[in-house]
Amino acid sequence: MIRVHVNDPLDQEALNLLKSRTQLDVTSEHLEKEKLLELMPQVEVLIVRSATKVNREIIEKGTKLRIIGRAGVGLDNIDVVAAKEKGIKVLNTPGASAVSVAELTFGLMLSAARHIARGTKDLKEGLWTKKELEGHELFGRTLGIIGLGMIGKEVAKRALAFEMKVLAYDPLVPSFQGVEMVNLDELYKFSDFITLHVPLNEQTKHMINAEAIEKMKNGVIIVNASRGGVIDEQALYNALVSGKVYAAALDVFEVEPPQDELRKKLLQLQNVVATPHIGASTCQAQERVGKELVERILKELGI
Ligand code: NAD
Repeated sequence: MIRVHVNDPLDQEALNLLKSRTQLDVTSEHLEKEKLLELMPQVEVLIVRSATKVNREIIEKGTKLRIIGRAGVGLDNIDVVAAKEKGIKVLNTPGASAVSVAELTFGLMLSAARHIARGTKDLKEGLWTKKELEGHELFGRTLGIIGLGMIGKEVAKRALAFEMKVLAYDPLVPSFQGVEMVNLDELYKFSDFITLHVPLNEQTKHMINAEAIEKMKNGVIIVNASRGGVIDEQALYNALVSGKVYAAALDVFEVEPPQDELRKKLLQLQNVVATPHIGASTCQAQERVGKELVERILKELGI
């Protein structure tokens, strides 16, 4: 029997598919680090989402570990170098949640531009703040997309349907229909809205810092549904307070949950709308992610 441990929530049908295979002995329960370390010597396939940090220590305890399955896209919670050194295959599901993240990006963008979250909050508190909530249209305005991969492209298609002008910067993508590829400085200079869809790595960490923000248009709206670490949130906070940045819409934070002093301050600002890392959290995306991941794992195991 091949020992499979699922340490973060996985779509029920995907889990059932795994459990239906008689060759597999499957457990599904979130174990904190110490308990997971204890279990690791038995585990051959470890499945996680983003909550479990599969660091070198965990990988080294997994003396029988063959596959790490990441139900999602980003691999920043997995030490892929340590996995590679030990010949462990890391499988993820690129693209399976792209539409969900792109749709949330639009929800965030509209909410920041039209004060939807603030309007809701005020009304619930019995306030009629109509005069304070004049916003901005998307039509005819310029969206700059940083990172034109699976999600960035879905965002671009939707922006074109909103009749926005779309600019993008991505060193690996030469062209995409309806989108003008530009360099970063041009993107900063001309965009009314900037949305980030890059992976978190050494090159992208804090790429949106004080210097980058300085190059942006006054009154820009920044949307981030990629990874929190790509924005220097202290610099963003300063720019939101000064008015350089009109509003920010954030699904992700460098610290999650964002409960430290800086993040608390950031979330208190009227011009910040935020969601708790729910970009891929739709029934449809989770079904697709679970199914694709399990199929890839079964194929890799040859069963
Ligand atoms: P992808 O790999 O398809 O696309 C990423 C793109 O970024 C690539 O085209 C790459 O060339 C480009 N890129 C890399 N470095 C860059 C740089 N320095 N400047 C500009 N472009 C750069 O990935 P994706 O599926 O589109 O995911 C994008 C991001 O969204 C990832 O960080 C992923 O972790 C995140 N994500 C978030 C959620 C959520 O719940 N909010 C869900 C899924 C994915």
